[in-house]
Amino acid sequence: MSASAIERMKFDDALAAFEPVLGLETHVELGTASKMFCSCSAEFGGDPNTHVCPVCLGLPGSMPVVNASAIESTIRMGLSLNCSIASWCRFARKNYFYPDMPKDYQVSQYDEPLCVDGYLDVVVATDDGPREFRVEIERVHMEEDTGKLTHAGGDTGRIHGADYSLVDYNRAGIPLIEIVTKPIVGAGELAPLVARAYVTELRDLMRALGVSDVRMDQGSLRCDVNVSLAPPGEPWGTRSETKNVNSLRSVERAVRFEIERQAAVLSSGGRVGQETRHFHE
Ligand code: ADP
Ligand code: MG
Ligand code: ZN
Repeated sequence: MSASAIERMKFDDALAAFEPVLGLETHVELGTASKMFCSCSAEFGGDPNTHVCPVCLGLPGSMPVVNASAIESTIRMGLSLNCSIASWCRFARKNYFYPDMPKDYQVSQYDEPLCVDGYLDVVVATDDGPREFRVEIERVHMEEDTGKLTHAGGDTGRIHGADYSLVDYNRAGIPLIEIVTKPIVGAGELAPLVARAYVTELRDLMRALGVSDVRMDQGSLRCDVNVSLAPPGEPWGTRSETKNVNSLRSVERAVRFEIERQAAVLSSGGRVGQETRHFHE
């Protein structure tokens, strides 16, 4: 469905009736020389499937060895976000069936991540001057990136309707850090700006630390935007998750769009389903 065909309420009306809650999940690809669990090059690009080995292809019998420099970068990120650093942490296997991971699972941290409970203060411009806003961080965890799929032959570039798909595992296994916020409440009409200011600040911090080149256009920084709405004083609503938002401007627009869309759904008596959405300019 095109965006213009989706019913939306005017932003100001939506905010008069509902309070938004946000959650941002940001993935940062680390700029390490090698991958998370093997010595393959983590450099961007290269001919398809040239930066691969038995470990990142998930061949039987191969043994992962963790990248010390990735751990160090993650600790630096955690400290810069005022997190507690765990003295002990664990990796888990996140099983799913999709060909972008050759192993059929992604090695990720789940309930015992490396960094927890931090915050990042951001500043947004308001009519009454700059306002500081504290965004609380739930966790910073390590995982490995997936391969890249190209779905050919269809109109949309999606797997549905494609004639065939190409798989490039050069990116599979590159260290990826996920930074998850706690629910952000109380931003009200500033919600789109707070989301943008947070991702901007995070990007600048990662760049200053030298842990990543944080290129949103190349996917080394990408963001999933969770939004829910509820009438003031009511329990939080059901969230939608807009995946892979890939520019700062789009982060702001994705929040705004979801506020307008969900307000229209809720005020016409409908329910917001917990769903994953894709962002289109
Ligand atoms: P998942 O992997 O299922 O998306 P996560 O816990 O990694 O779950 O991320 C969920 C994000 O959504 C977090 O940033 C969290 O703070 C946020 N969140 C949780 N509940 C709500 C809600 N009701 N409305 C908006 N955001 C929410
Ligand atoms: Mg998510
Ligand atoms: Zn490898």
